[in-house]
Amino acid sequence: MSATPASPASSDSPDSSGAFVPGPGGSVVVFLEPDAGPAGTAAGSGSGVRLRVADPRLPALLVTDQGATRGDGVFETMSAVASAGGPAGVVHGAAAEGLTSHRVRKEASHLARLASSAEALEIPLPPTDAWRRAAAAGLAAFARGMPGADAVVKLVATRGPEGAPGGGHYVRGAADVGSDGELAETTAPGPQVPAQLTGTYWVLVSPVSEGMAAARERGLKVLLLDRGFDSGASERAPWLLMGTKSLSYAVNMAALRFASSQGADDVIFTSSDGKVLEGPTSTVLMARRVPQADGTHGVELVTPLRSSGILAGTSQGTIFAAAAQAGWALGYGPLEPADLFDADAVWLVSSVRLVAPVTHLDGEELPQDADLTEQLNAFLAEDLAPGDHGPNGAG
Ligand code: PLP
Repeated sequence: MSATPASPASSDSPDSSGAFVPGPGGSVVVFLEPDAGPAGTAAGSGSGVRLRVADPRLPALLVTDQGATRGDGVFETMSAVASAGGPAGVVHGAAAEGLTSHRVRKEASHLARLASSAEALEIPLPPTDAWRRAAAAGLAAFARGMPGADAVVKLVATRGPEGAPGGGHYVRGAADVGSDGELAETTAPGPQVPAQLTGTYWVLVSPVSEGMAAARERGLKVLLLDRGFDSGASERAPWLLMGTKSLSYAVNMAALRFASSQGADDVIFTSSDGKVLEGPTSTVLMARRVPQADGTHGVELVTPLRSSGILAGTSQGTIFAAAAQAGWALGYGPLEPADLFDADAVWLVSSVRLVAPVTHLDGEELPQDADLTEQLNAFLAEDLAPGDHGPNGAG
């Protein structure tokens, strides 16, 4: 294998300020780096974090970075919808006037979940505002290269290189997050850098893969697979980091490959005591149509019990918030596979693939309800704050 870095494609071109702009189908990365200089001097400074827009195909990560060597880090994947008629590539400073190139769906929920994942792993994070500005800067560069295209925005924070000052893998108490999962932000004037910003931080903005829409249209053949833990493991053994969006997704990817080898598209994990958990990259939802006294049908929407060690989905939280407003009954498991087979419809939901119907479970055809699928996608598009139904809610 060649060690030569990929050179930028000829279609990539820097803008007038010399900043990287991706060519069609390309991606752009924005690094968040501690900025020791005075606030306001470098691009994106003012919160003590400097933003650096770069070509993601060029080498950037140290081989000792614990995100790479141990999967020791956290991430989020957000969906960004191109603003209709909005000026492409307007810089983040225009965000206050709504002049951004994209609208990031559920950004506050994703940032809150990034903070709670980082808190669980004790990884210090740049302030929320720096992440928002990094995403906006990446989207602006993306929009200059691909005006009008929707994007996937991935936020990554790793523990940083082994042996770096404060970056040892057993360092405790460095995370700049509050106990409620909110990112701590100091109001002191001047650079506001968390005490020890020892990790590696970046935002990657990429095009949406066409396979996502296809999966949504076609529906999913899903296998039930045992995750190997009982539904109490998460509470008994918090070091398993269940329900945390850590970078350690090799097991999830292996489950997807196994499903693929069996002719299936996706997976629903079950606990060793037979409870329905989640997909490797999605939340499970199911609906029952419930007869009402007046002869009509209401809908009951149910998702598995969160305390069973699953990730609290931002899509599920937003859908539940809109469904509650529409008067639907909502429930949080516990669910067993028999509940899924008896449901009127089952879906896997996530931020980029959105609401995808499950057509088959372990080879058995499930009922479909196109109206409900459309309704759930409409709920998701409302983009309501999830409140109690979201990642940091009580549900
Ligand atoms: N569960 C797991 C394990 C995930 O990885 C994801 C998203 O990637 C989800 C659920 C869905 O979360 P969200 O709706 O916030 O994208």
